[in-house]
Amino acid sequence: MAAAIASPGSNGETGMTPQLQREIAVLLSWLFFMLMLGVIFDSIASFLLSGLLVYVVWTLYNLNKLNKWLAKPSKHTPEAIGVWDEIFYQLYNLYKRQRKARRKLTSILSRFQKSTKALPYATIVLNEFYEIAWFNPAAKQLFNLHSRIDIGQRIDNLIRLPEFAQYLLKKQYKKPLKLMLQKKKIIINITKYSEGQYLISARDITSLSQMDEMRRDFISNASHELRTPLTVISGYVEFLSHKAKDETKIPLEKMAEQIIRMNNIISELIELARLESSVTIDHSVKVEIDTLMNDVYAEAISLDKNRHHIELDIDTKNLTRIDSLYLYGSYDELRMALSNLLTNAIRYTPQGGDIKLFVAANDAAISVGVQDTGEGINYEHIPRLTERFYRIDEGRSREVGGTGLGLAIVKHVLDRHSANLHIQSEPGKGSLFRCDFPLSRLENQ
Ligand code: ADP
Repeated sequence: MAAAIASPGSNGETGMTPQLQREIAVLLSWLFFMLMLGVIFDSIASFLLSGLLVYVVWTLYNLNKLNKWLAKPSKHTPEAIGVWDEIFYQLYNLYKRQRKARRKLTSILSRFQKSTKALPYATIVLNEFYEIAWFNPAAKQLFNLHSRIDIGQRIDNLIRLPEFAQYLLKKQYKKPLKLMLQKKKIIINITKYSEGQYLISARDITSLSQMDEMRRDFISNASHELRTPLTVISGYVEFLSHKAKDETKIPLEKMAEQIIRMNNIISELIELARLESSVTIDHSVKVEIDTLMNDVYAEAISLDKNRHHIELDIDTKNLTRIDSLYLYGSYDELRMALSNLLTNAIRYTPQGGDIKLFVAANDAAISVGVQDTGEGINYEHIPRLTERFYRIDEGRSREVGGTGLGLAIVKHVLDRHSANLHIQSEPGKGSLFRCDFPLSRLENQ
């Protein structure tokens, strides 16, 4: 380690470089020479003093050259001899290394600036006070920024929207923010990339969201349009069933079953389109969990007709922060989500199995959900369960009256309530579907 710290050519023990040792030897020889002259001319003191004076003047002269070079370093170092030559040589090397490092840094910086300039996404760098430090041309265009006046301005002075100010204040940047700004729909991501440095990347998604809206409208309109002919067919099937002879009874029953299935699919498609298109829910409305759970439980009991053991378990012993248990949002949507989970548990749990509708609350989150001892789900299906029409076994789902849209609806409802769906399952043992409502979010609402 000591060898690594000592500079090349240094004497590890004394810390003296060979150049300095040589310089001392030269000085001592010079003084010895002056001493000899002093002896010859019988004036030792004055010769030694003049010898030292010459050395000091020479040192000052070199110091002056060094000072001048340091003030304006260049490729050409001053001519010098002895230790001074070595010093200039070392300084020149240092200067060369620094220049190289600076050139490299400049090229990295210019490459970074070129690539961020070329980025189609608006990019803004903010300091710890959310003041603009840098932005690219896309940001200039999207937010109408001007380099001269807007650098140093707080970003919320320029994007003057209450939801943006709230988003900055909450500092929960994992989820992007969607905004309407000058008739443009914008999605904003904020990343904290070093101590007190924020990177905003934003994108105009107006046309994307218009296309999305058209797709949703199409599904919703098509579903509504299908309802009328289906009602007519259903009427005729019912009419024919009354007069049917034995051989036509079964096909007519099958037709009636399929009509019910189609009706269910249409209703759920309309529900999904509604969930996607209605912008927000009112987060200030309290939903009493007790009432919600009891209503869902009562509905499940009547639907199940005693085929399973269904229990309701409300566990709040770990909750110390609030007296009454509330969620915030839409009672109807939350009830629909929980009903879907409970209906699935009834569908996919063999007769006699146990089903639990539960609430577990602690100071971090309120969790509500359903646990069953049914057929369970293989782990590879779990990430895809909330996709529309994703079914593990299509035949089985059809047989029990599934549409493949139930969990997609649950996911949408939870997203709208800032909650997360957690699924845990083991084939043959059962499944747990838990909806987590973080308390920090609930209280902020
Ligand atoms: P479906 O209407 O087909 O039930 P869902 O979206 O509600 O559609 O569920 C998707 C699939 O997830 C189902 O087809 C089923 O295979 C599986 N699933 C949902 N809930 C359960 C459960 N409690 N136990 C086992 N499988 C389940």
